[in-house]
Amino acid sequence: MPSPFLNPGARSTANGLSLLHLRRDNLLPVVLDASDADPSTEKIVTTRFGPFPHSTLLNKTWGSQIASSNPPSNKRGKKALKRKADDLDSTEADDVPASASGFIHIFPPTPESWTSSLPHRTQVVYTPDYSYVLHRLRARPGCTIIEAGAGSGSFTHAAARAVFNGYSSASSPKSKKRTRFGKVCSFEFHAQRAQKIREELAQHGLEDVVHTTHRDVYSDGFLLGDPKTGKSPRANAVFLDLPAPWLALKHLVRNPADGAAVSPLDPSSPVFICTFSPCMEQVQKTISTLRQLGWLSISMVEVNQRRIDVRRELYGLGNEGVRGAVQFPKSVDEAIGKLRSEEDKMREYRKLQKEGVNSNTDTNGNERAVKEDDNTDEAKNEVPVYQRGRLIHRTEPDLKTHTSYLVFAVLPRPWSEEEERRCRERWPSRS
Ligand code: SAM
Repeated sequence: MPSPFLNPGARSTANGLSLLHLRRDNLLPVVLDASDADPSTEKIVTTRFGPFPHSTLLNKTWGSQIASSNPPSNKRGKKALKRKADDLDSTEADDVPASASGFIHIFPPTPESWTSSLPHRTQVVYTPDYSYVLHRLRARPGCTIIEAGAGSGSFTHAAARAVFNGYSSASSPKSKKRTRFGKVCSFEFHAQRAQKIREELAQHGLEDVVHTTHRDVYSDGFLLGDPKTGKSPRANAVFLDLPAPWLALKHLVRNPADGAAVSPLDPSSPVFICTFSPCMEQVQKTISTLRQLGWLSISMVEVNQRRIDVRRELYGLGNEGVRGAVQFPKSVDEAIGKLRSEEDKMREYRKLQKEGVNSNTDTNGNERAVKEDDNTDEAKNEVPVYQRGRLIHRTEPDLKTHTSYLVFAVLPRPWSEEEERRCRERWPSRS
């Protein structure tokens, strides 16, 4: 089965993973089941926007909006619908059919959406980190990446997509011989996690791209099969998200001294490594061991990605702020005063809304009210919904965004005296 992560096709399919977009930052992964067509017993996805039987989600063009036939009628459900409508921009909100106030969107899975919706069994590597890591590891179609530990499989999915070579060569035995298939060799020491990731990868159609091994890599290294006599993955890149990565480095050498028959690294290319550790002490131990083992170009990076929330605030904290910035109150009394005034404004706004009056804020931040059927020039020049209020932004605090320190290094391609001699003979002018 082609993986929906690598080749999603145009529509949602039975037994394939789909992502249901409930709200911003709220995605629900669902494997759609077509085995039961009986409406009284078929599987149903229950959301706060209403129930969605699997038959209503199957064979939909990716990106479709799907209305619930039975939107929520209780207070909590209505509140959720209102919040969701507020989240959408004005154009989208206009598209919502009046009869379908309970709706969701359906999307194909991607490593990014899987990362934000997967069942967490461990801490995971998030998109800003793994996109940078894969770039620095030179991950590309056809290369082999060693990963330990697999954890919840967040990095695994992104790595699988990065190394995947395409389906065409797999279907043609001739080209199969010539193509070097990209592979992720993933190691996990926790038995249940290793089993779970195996099941998930099979369900996502990635079992041919990712080879999962249940292993303690500190003691048993990275060969496939038997730890001593097994096959070399011939890795071009390594990603270690382990509590003590320095303990695994002794196995990542050109000439194994750990009793293994072969090195797990590709002898014909340099090897790029990244370790992912939350504390500076771990970084120091890792760097020290990397140096001892001959790794070069060692550097450390912290990806300091910060999400900036930008939104329009019709009733923000006062109107005195510079456009685009929020002025915070200087005392508790000032804050309470501002909140009271905001509440008064909100009450007034709701009252006007009930009376069929369209409340607005002019560019100076002053309140003005326009009758909906008003045909005056002022009403015609009315500020559109998406321009009302003030544009404000808030950044996430620093603490929330620190994930880990990334240590990068390169192990050069091995180079023998014999190779050097041959090279001199062939290109004497270059020596
Ligand atoms: N990178 C993963 C992701 O993106 O979902 C998360 C990895 S999690 C933070 C660390 C994992 O390393 C845990 O699942 C743990 O069981 C595994 N681990 C710890 N020590 C290990 C060892 N010696 N060998 C293999 N895996 C190990």
